[in-house]
Amino acid sequence: MKILSEQKLLLAMLAGIVAGGISGYLWGESMLAVQWLGDLFITALKMLIVPLVAASVISGVAGLGDVRRLGRMGGYAVSYYACTTLIAVSIGLLMANLWQPGVGVSLGSGLGAPSPKAGDVGITDLILSLVHPNIVAAAADMKLLPIIVFCIAFAAALSTLGERGRPVIAFFESLNDGMMKLVEWIMWLAPLGVFALIASRLGAAGGGEAFIGQLAGLGKYAAAVISGLLAHAAVLCLLLAMLARRRIGEYLGHMATALMTAFSTASSSATLPLTMEGVQLAGVDEKARRFVLPLGATINMDGTALYEAVAVLFIAQAYGIDLSFAQQMVVLLTATLAAIGAAGVPEAGLVTMVIVLEAVGLPLEGIGLLLAIDWFLDRCRTTINVFGDAVGAAVVGSLLARNRS
Ligand code: ASP
Repeated sequence: MKILSEQKLLLAMLAGIVAGGISGYLWGESMLAVQWLGDLFITALKMLIVPLVAASVISGVAGLGDVRRLGRMGGYAVSYYACTTLIAVSIGLLMANLWQPGVGVSLGSGLGAPSPKAGDVGITDLILSLVHPNIVAAAADMKLLPIIVFCIAFAAALSTLGERGRPVIAFFESLNDGMMKLVEWIMWLAPLGVFALIASRLGAAGGGEAFIGQLAGLGKYAAAVISGLLAHAAVLCLLLAMLARRRIGEYLGHMATALMTAFSTASSSATLPLTMEGVQLAGVDEKARRFVLPLGATINMDGTALYEAVAVLFIAQAYGIDLSFAQQMVVLLTATLAAIGAAGVPEAGLVTMVIVLEAVGLPLEGIGLLLAIDWFLDRCRTTINVFGDAVGAAVVGSLLARNRS
């Protein structure tokens, strides 16, 4: 996409978000009438996810040429995910201890809400979720992790076949390029899509005044989450400059459409096609981005990890339960696990938080306290999730390049 049209699209999306915010604020529930437009945008993006992930991972991994290089790239990616997620949870714990958002919160509000079930989030379930007996069924259910694992193994196998593997690899390379072309076309729906998503969601919350009221009710909690997310964004920018040696402003400019889409859709999976396009425009090493982004969108969720830490401490404080340092370390580890287990879909983190609460023996009903504004904080944390993936691609790309030279 040309630079000029990229800038035009960016401005149009910004205008869409602002207009969506104003319309949802002023006209509240009547903006639900435009929800279908937002659904159209998200559905169009989701339509690309499975073929894009498969084509991207297979062409990225097979393009490495030598299976041993996969180990190095995988090692860099997993170390990046683990370090940044742990930093994110630590910032979350710090913010919750500084702000003490749950102190003095009345337990009456929201506690009647049904508490979510843990689902498949134990450590063994997490390992089992890496494989699926039927890859077509996994694709039909959009279970990305088993698809990614299958594609990595398949691409590694193809790259050992020499000439005989070439036609299949070439097929997936073309499929990837075709999908990226479709992403460019769907992008033109984005300004209208983000407008509709923001306006209708604010409308569903009862309009601007109702939302401000809910936000004020949980003001300290929201402030702790948002200031934590901003601090983590600063850490990511630092990593971008120091490890990937990139100009922060320029990189952010390329990622802006993806970040705005993440904020509007609250789904890092639905945003993945745009994250890929942004990182491509920024000129990140092709193999790194094709491998790191799909995996990152599925398991690397810094924003979610940070939010889970703040939320769990908030619940403990609201119940008047003091979590010791050792218990906070349990939160550190389980929130990391819960973030890995969360799918890249709206409010997934709210469900996987159950494992953190169970690990430190807190009442699951406490989640009810957070529900009123979770839709909004979900958008903020998803934006950081996507930024973390984009920075990861640049860092891994640059480490690989340095290792080659
Ligand atoms: N909505 C988030 C995402 O898609 C996950 C979550 O924290 O709920 O990245």
